[in-house]
Amino acid sequence: MRRVRVAFASLCLALAVPVAPAVAATAGGSPHELAADGSALDLRSVALGQVDRELVLTVRARSRIDPAELAAGDGRLCASLAGDGGSSRLCVERRAGAWALSSGSRTVEGQVTQPAAGTLVIRVLPSALGLRPAALRWSVTVTPASCSPASAAQTGGVAPGSAGGAPVPSQAPCGSRAPRGEGTYAGRVWRAQVTGCTRDGAGQVRRGARRKEVALTYDDGPSPYTRPLLATLDRLGVPATFFMIGQQVPSRAPLLRRMLASGHELANHSWNHANLGGGGPGASSQLQRTSAAIRRATGFTPCLFRPPYGSTGADLISRANAQGMTSVIWSADPLDWRTPGTDSIVARVLSQTGPGGIILGHDGGGSRTQSLAAAPRIIAGLRARGYRFVTVSRLLGYDERIALRR
Ligand code: ZN
Repeated sequence: MRRVRVAFASLCLALAVPVAPAVAATAGGSPHELAADGSALDLRSVALGQVDRELVLTVRARSRIDPAELAAGDGRLCASLAGDGGSSRLCVERRAGAWALSSGSRTVEGQVTQPAAGTLVIRVLPSALGLRPAALRWSVTVTPASCSPASAAQTGGVAPGSAGGAPVPSQAPCGSRAPRGEGTYAGRVWRAQVTGCTRDGAGQVRRGARRKEVALTYDDGPSPYTRPLLATLDRLGVPATFFMIGQQVPSRAPLLRRMLASGHELANHSWNHANLGGGGPGASSQLQRTSAAIRRATGFTPCLFRPPYGSTGADLISRANAQGMTSVIWSADPLDWRTPGTDSIVARVLSQTGPGGIILGHDGGGSRTQSLAAAPRIIAGLRARGYRFVTVSRLLGYDERIALRR
């Protein structure tokens, strides 16, 4: 009986855990409807919008889009994108039974899906096309493989304009273009600003899932050591998570914005590094002031909290939870705050880190020259063992919350 009751209690707890839905930020993307032009791959509508960080181009044809019609070398569908933030021509082709994206002679990372017979959806990061956030003019052309090269040359791969409802021309054009004729549509690459993270209801964690991923974390900043540490991390392409002391935040707002823009995560480490292990309303106030300072400086609301000195308790965990934060301890502690020497810091981290590891370090609170010198060696050592570096939010499987701004 007792066992049943325990199981029931755990079930209630599991059900009570609030899980915030991950809602994607979207902008643009209304379809432009097109009159029939009678071509072999007649475009019915096109739409370009942005979902979180990705541009999404949705192309609908009047009939099924046969992948063979876009076989590399014979047919292709291309979008011309031009604006103040750069210009690019993105093309979709079928290569060896798979969709491929290219820009000029360059392969572009992205995703192409065919959710319905007559629909292609292309997702790509603007940065992969060299596009920065700005206004954009765009158009789409499609030249199916069934076009003879002569016919394509004659029409320039583009259908002549045809008024809505007009009879299909007796000699069907080869390619199809949106808009009809020579124009372009107005669009935009939006600036994707990270405003927070969507967490699960976890109270406290010491490590992530046991994948080949680890998270570097730095406490007690921001400080004069933060900037040189960022230079190293950014040069090596490693995102880190910074647990910050709230009272040090307001004077370093531009640095925090840069950290966020480079993909680092900002997190809460109390207002003045008091020992909050006993909980109580004072602890709530410390957490609240710090999150507010980070939000004021950057627009980002942290979803992670690390208790100063690792000193924690049930009340503190639930107070952090009530403010939308998971408490994060660590799985590897090099005791770098004691300045034991760079070799010792590196050796301790490498010996204590396994899959899903959360590595503690410090970028404030004293001389951090050794911690900074250890960073590239820790990164090289763990990469050599096949680990990938992610933020703590990513390690825990949390989604970013993104707002799209002009
Ligand atoms: Zn600390």
